[in-house]
Amino acid sequence: MRLQPSPLVRRYQAVFGGGATKILSLTDRGVVRYAQKQEKRGLFINLTTVLLGPAVSDSTRRPYSRSAELSLDHSRVPKQAEQQDRSIIPDKGRFIMISFELSQNRRIMRDTAAKFAREEILPVRNQFELDYADGKCMDKIFLEAAKLGLLGFPIEEKYGGSDGNNLDVMVILEEIAAVDGGVATAIGDTWFAMTPIIIAADSEQRERFLRPLASRTEANLAAICMTEPQSGADIEDPRMGLRTCRTIVTQDGADLVINGTKAWPSNAGIAHLYVVVGTVDPKLGEQGSCLVVVEKDRKGLSFGKPEQKMGMHADRNSEVILENVRAPRKNLLGNIGDGAKILQRTLIYNRLGGGMISVGIARGAFEYALGYCKERVVGGKPLIEHSLIADMFAKMATNIDAARLLVFRSAWANMNRHPDRARFSDMAKVFATNMAMEVTTQCVQVMGSYGYSKEYPVEKYMRDAKIVQIFLGPNELLTQLIGKSL
Ligand SMILES: Cc1cc2nc3c(=O)[nH]c(=O)nc-3n(C[C@H](O)[C@H](O)[C@H](O)COP(=O)(O)OP(=O)(O)OC[C@H]3O[C@@H](n4cnc5c(N)ncnc54)[C@H](O)[C@@H]3O)c2cc1C
Repeated sequence: MRLQPSPLVRRYQAVFGGGATKILSLTDRGVVRYAQKQEKRGLFINLTTVLLGPAVSDSTRRPYSRSAELSLDHSRVPKQAEQQDRSIIPDKGRFIMISFELSQNRRIMRDTAAKFAREEILPVRNQFELDYADGKCMDKIFLEAAKLGLLGFPIEEKYGGSDGNNLDVMVILEEIAAVDGGVATAIGDTWFAMTPIIIAADSEQRERFLRPLASRTEANLAAICMTEPQSGADIEDPRMGLRTCRTIVTQDGADLVINGTKAWPSNAGIAHLYVVVGTVDPKLGEQGSCLVVVEKDRKGLSFGKPEQKMGMHADRNSEVILENVRAPRKNLLGNIGDGAKILQRTLIYNRLGGGMISVGIARGAFEYALGYCKERVVGGKPLIEHSLIADMFAKMATNIDAARLLVFRSAWANMNRHPDRARFSDMAKVFATNMAMEVTTQCVQVMGSYGYSKEYPVEKYMRDAKIVQIFLGPNELLTQLIGKSL
């Protein structure tokens, strides 16, 4: 495997020239050890300080964790180091070296999210299955999420959020999805709907749209409205340039007038604002594409009845109907013609989120089934002691880890504007969602009829896992895009 040099390796090469290529096969810790060995041999003077720099001399004692700071703990990296990190974006098509340790900050985020999921979601999880059409059982959970700062988590601090970056968001999503994929989708879709605003809004729009979403006293969810009854995957296909979109935006003086029907948006009917994908003329393709923010109380905005679904019941979906909805032109994100591009950038982020929701769902099912198989005695010994079953668990554990790593790589690449970030995100989404379907199905299998029973949670994980193979771009579409990008 060809590894891309880490910042440390690059610095080493800058100091000692390209001849030092041997170092490429080492981890950062290995580089430091190698340098120390050279120093001992008297070949280089104070090489580790040259490599790590005086400002981080303390890190010479913990070189590995420093590299974790550079790569994983983006939010805490000093600006200078961050820029340095951005300046060493690997070349297209190469592999990236990265550390896998979570920073202390991120461990705290993970534990907080896990506690929220365990204490707020788990006790009422079964209720979602029965009461989802009413949707009231979700209110308390969303309010608690708002109080914790979860709903506005990715929003910049100056608009009331926590400035959570891609990796932070992924760590939190996994914990929530491990308990309930539907809650993870509802909260995740609020973050996903914010993404076009974070990408393209001016400061006045950020203040107007993002600050309410960051509220810690009321639960303000958001929805992203892409899918239409006649066109789903095609709207998300970058090759189509939104030519199949039939939500028409007309300019009328200082206003935009929107007409169309959106199908399936998460949080439909309960969201505070709706980011609507539209076009001034489908024939213009990308040139006519646009994104408009529609607040919940705009005249002409209405909703269909809640969709009856196989799973993800904590996520509420229905049609969003826009009949002559008038919004001021200042609700347009970017310009007419920017919509398709902003949407594609949003989808990179959303797809890796879908990947992480799948990792969480798979992990939740896996942990439950593993506990069960340690207790359940078949053929005179616990199921887990049967080699076929142990083999299944070993493969499941490996695949869950592999999917998580793909998602982390993709999040890192997205944060660093890596040229292959769209492909990485598609790869993470396809691999993780297929993995979750397989893992949850096997969890049902190893638990026998109890796996199939609603008394146990694994059948729910299996039902929840299915849709993630379809939404955010069906896996068939994404596989085509991956193939095309190679
Ligand atoms: C729980 C849930 C949450 C959702 N959340 C949202 C949301 O927040 N916002 C939103 O806008 N939508 C949302 N959706 C809708 C979802 O994103 C779409 O349903 C999805 O994109 C697929 O569109 P479609 O159902 O129209 O399928 P179609 O586009 O008709 O595709 C049908 C099938 O055709 C195949 N296919 C599609 N494209 C290709 C291709 N290029 N090559 C080969 N085969 C292909 C795939 O197998 C696909 O499943 C949600 C749906 C659900 C169920």
